[in-house]
Amino acid sequence: MSSPWFGAVADDVTGAVDLAGEMAAAGSPAVVVFGVPDASIDLPDVDVVVVALKSRTAPAGRAVSESLASARWLLDHGVSTLYQKYCSTFDSTDEGNIGPVAEALLGLRPAGSASVGTPATPHAGRTQYQGKLFVGDRLLSESSLATHPLTPMTDPDLVRVLGRQSTAPVGLVHHETVRRGAAAISAHAERLVAEGARHVLVDAIDDDDLVAIAAAIDPATALLGGGAGLATAIARAHGGGSPSQPPGVAQGGALIVSGSGSERTREQVAAYPGPVVTIDPLNLGDVPGRVRAAMQQGTVLVSATASPDEVRRVQAELGVAASAELIEATLADLVRTAVDDWGVSRVIVAGGETSGAVVEALGVRMLHLGERAAPGVTWSVATRKGRPPVALLLKSGNFGGEDLFTTAWESAP
Ligand code: ADP
Repeated sequence: MSSPWFGAVADDVTGAVDLAGEMAAAGSPAVVVFGVPDASIDLPDVDVVVVALKSRTAPAGRAVSESLASARWLLDHGVSTLYQKYCSTFDSTDEGNIGPVAEALLGLRPAGSASVGTPATPHAGRTQYQGKLFVGDRLLSESSLATHPLTPMTDPDLVRVLGRQSTAPVGLVHHETVRRGAAAISAHAERLVAEGARHVLVDAIDDDDLVAIAAAIDPATALLGGGAGLATAIARAHGGGSPSQPPGVAQGGALIVSGSGSERTREQVAAYPGPVVTIDPLNLGDVPGRVRAAMQQGTVLVSATASPDEVRRVQAELGVAASAELIEATLADLVRTAVDDWGVSRVIVAGGETSGAVVEALGVRMLHLGERAAPGVTWSVATRKGRPPVALLLKSGNFGGEDLFTTAWESAP
């Protein structure tokens, strides 16, 4: 059996699934493993292994130690390209964790290496120009990410954002250089590193830019980093293997849960034509009972998704962390009951943090990436110890079309 050539440490679950799904679609068979892997993990024959942590909003010390242990495991399993996956909207705080994790992982690369990459993922509307991140035609700070419940992004200047989280200087390869091609990019990045930078952000506004960046960076002497965009360009350049067949999923019921506060999810929730059970964090009531009853009328959407004003009202009452935990636990427990007791075998989950909680509650060991439901949103088969596999579509907030909750079932395993 061949060993994987690409290993990523991802700071959230849906980001990990997005990355693995896009690389699988680009021809590189991929799996996601959850939490710091241990010796009991039996890797199938794949090109890409992504370790999904829940470290985006964890204390920096924990994010660093879990990322380091995961990266060591990936290197021990033979990966030659080490990738730090963060959000394509650079979701983070002044404490981290993108900068501290990058600096820790650099310790596993040869001396003098730098972290090099970009969050730009043009197919999802994320582009980086002059170091500023855009979401569609808006600056990051003018997008809905500015009011994210946990990681509000109010500064679009990534050199500044990463600088606040890092001990080492951050350099920028401008788009002007990127357009001149791979040799110009690598020469510019080398100059920045020679001048003392340990982090290099590279502008990219389309897939051609990402192809040039992928060709410019030698994975043997760099820690690569970014969103799904750059990783997909790397997969295309590498060429793929033949996928190992994911396990089958028994026919069963379906369920949709949403704990995402993102604008796109709000549109998807509003557009859903089926039965909806709304979760009010200030007045939960008998959630499983209400959902079970509503399941008589079709595929139920269980939603805590609310407007930014409403989320602020709940956070003021319960506290930011406590309200998030309450909703995540409510939705995750519900999914576990639905899968283990009600025969549900296909679940759509909206929200990065929410997906992490669901995966944990289900006891998922590994996700085998399958068919894409939309760019950045891929069905997977989740294997669990001693329990049957489940089909999961884990979607981070801002992905998928408005009708995703209806159309995604067509591509379900
Ligand atoms: P996204 O991918 O859209 O960022 P996440 O699940 O990662 O979604 O994050 C949304 C966070 O907001 C979760 O921790 C969730 O529990 C919390 N949340 C969702 N709905 C509400 C609400 N109505 N009030 C307060 N917090 C909420």
